[in-house]
Amino acid sequence: MAAQYYHFGRHQISESEVFYTTQLSFALVNNRPVRPGHVLVCPKREVKRVADLTADETCDLWITAQKIGRQLESYHNASSLTFGIQDGPEAGQTVPHVHIHIIPRTAGDFENNDDDINDEIDLKEKQLKRRLDEEERQIRSLGEMAAEADEYRKLFQ
Ligand code: AMP
Repeated sequence: MAAQYYHFGRHQISESEVFYTTQLSFALVNNRPVRPGHVLVCPKREVKRVADLTADETCDLWITAQKIGRQLESYHNASSLTFGIQDGPEAGQTVPHVHIHIIPRTAGDFENNDDDINDEIDLKEKQLKRRLDEEERQIRSLGEMAAEADEYRKLFQ
């Protein structure tokens, strides 16, 4: 049987990286997570901007993000979550396909955990430069990502 792929912008995402799907959304592990459990939730339809989503897609995307956030916060023994959307290139979006970043958060995980919403959302440009060495964020192997997705899939059975 032919392999099934999900489209995330120009990227073809194999089923092994996807750990949760609904009729309208899918969730995948991140190839450059900023923290353990940093995942992405996307609409199945490839649309660039939040404004392009239908009401049904918007509801489904956020309900999916809520469900995944709850499970991953617990799985990673975290105590908070960052939900983030970079909506358009000037907002820092690098993959032109709507996606919600979900990041389990723990006390002291970032040096400057201020309330500036731009700092919260624009993680790569701001928080990461402060705390994480780029070398720690190399693209991971497909095997490593598939193993992570396997673990998360169990949380939704
Ligand atoms: P943004 O900069 O908000 O558009 O976020 C793009 C996110 O997609 C980043 O967290 C990347 O690490 C992640 N990403 C890019 N390509 C892939 C891929 N092929 N598989 C998984 N995650 C990806």
